[in-house]
Amino acid sequence: VYQIPRGTRDITPEEMQKRRYVEEVMRSTFNTFGYREIQTPTFETLELFTAKSGETIVEELYSFTDKGGRELALRPELTAPVIRFYVDKLQMEPKPLKLFYFGNCYRYDRPQKGRYREFKQAGCEIIGTDTSEAYAELIAMAYNILKKVGLKNLELNIGELNILSSIFKRFNLSKDQQKYLTPLIDKSLFEDVFVALKDFGIKNEDANALTEILQTSDIKKIENFIKDGDAAKKELTELKKIIDLLEKSLGIKNYKIKMSIVRGLDYYKGLVFEIEAPSLGAEKQLCGGGAYELIRLFGGKETPTAGFAIGFDRTILALESEGFKFPTYRLDVFVIPVNDDMIKKSLEITQNLRNQGVSADLDLLRRGISKSLKYASSINAKKAIIVGPKELEQDKVTIRDMNTGKQEMVKIKDITQIVK
Ligand code: AMP
Repeated sequence: VYQIPRGTRDITPEEMQKRRYVEEVMRSTFNTFGYREIQTPTFETLELFTAKSGETIVEELYSFTDKGGRELALRPELTAPVIRFYVDKLQMEPKPLKLFYFGNCYRYDRPQKGRYREFKQAGCEIIGTDTSEAYAELIAMAYNILKKVGLKNLELNIGELNILSSIFKRFNLSKDQQKYLTPLIDKSLFEDVFVALKDFGIKNEDANALTEILQTSDIKKIENFIKDGDAAKKELTELKKIIDLLEKSLGIKNYKIKMSIVRGLDYYKGLVFEIEAPSLGAEKQLCGGGAYELIRLFGGKETPTAGFAIGFDRTILALESEGFKFPTYRLDVFVIPVNDDMIKKSLEITQNLRNQGVSADLDLLRRGISKSLKYASSINAKKAIIVGPKELEQDKVTIRDMNTGKQEMVKIKDITQIVK
């Protein structure tokens, strides 16, 4: 037998129903915020991703050379592809441009629960605005999408990278030092951050103050820390506007300010946010987003951009771990010919139902009534229609309610009305 490649999954009909349900709720929520769906290719030129994230990204990619000698990569995310699309074909579109997508992504990650080599993202980009209302709405949309799909327990964290980097600047931390600190901050290893700051020659009290700011969710404390004339003053004012709108106009009060959000990616600028599902344990991050700059790097005319990506598979896992009851799909009718002579008529009845928009299936194995009924109940059909010669003489069939077992004879012309 052939093995499924490491880090990939097969999706059963039951799981697929859950996924389709979640996808539809997400899609309609994007639509209610005025976003329009797009699609980009599964593979792109390798350069698109190395331009954005540097050569080291190749380690994390599925990349290959095609028969024409082109260096390509399966996309690890969709922001770079969407911005490539924008620069190539959409720059003249009226602003702001609100785009969303669903797409499989590929990363040479170490697989574990909630971390796969092939996984799906639902995400969006808003191009052409950097107002506080645009950002507040973006955060609200991410939060609403996850609420609408049915998640109860969510943690929304909001940060600001300009504030963080201006604090770094104040302590004269070099680019290399910042690079060293970033993953430590990202992993909330604040003791290590403190030790590193001391190693960099930062005074004890300053190192203390900085590590405290990284851990506080009190915006007042951050305000006190940021001195007048500090470059981050403006960003802090903007951040306050965003959270004010989020709370007062968009009804989202359940958030935390978190200065230690750095996001793995160097192209983020300014606002950043993350949404976590605490029920998930280790791989609990469901959504990451913020404002970023990529357009100029890709050769376009600079305009503000922001967006987020939701981990689709993790959203399903989080719903399952919260015990969410997914709506299940049920076949409306299963048609059973009593003997081989009834097959023609049964097929006709089945097809007629389908034409009327009723989901209908029929026994294709020529088994008896009892085996067919067993099968109908195993596929969770709502009703069975038994087609027998005696009933047929009167243009009738027997309809059986699969929940109650109750049976009645009905005219063939009335079937649709009854099963609907
Ligand atoms: P990122 O593009 O890394 O910010 O990822 C956005 C979201 O995609 C994360 O918050 C996760 O929910 C999800 N995600 C990222 N990597 C994986 C993976 N290897 N497997 C499953 N989901 C992932």
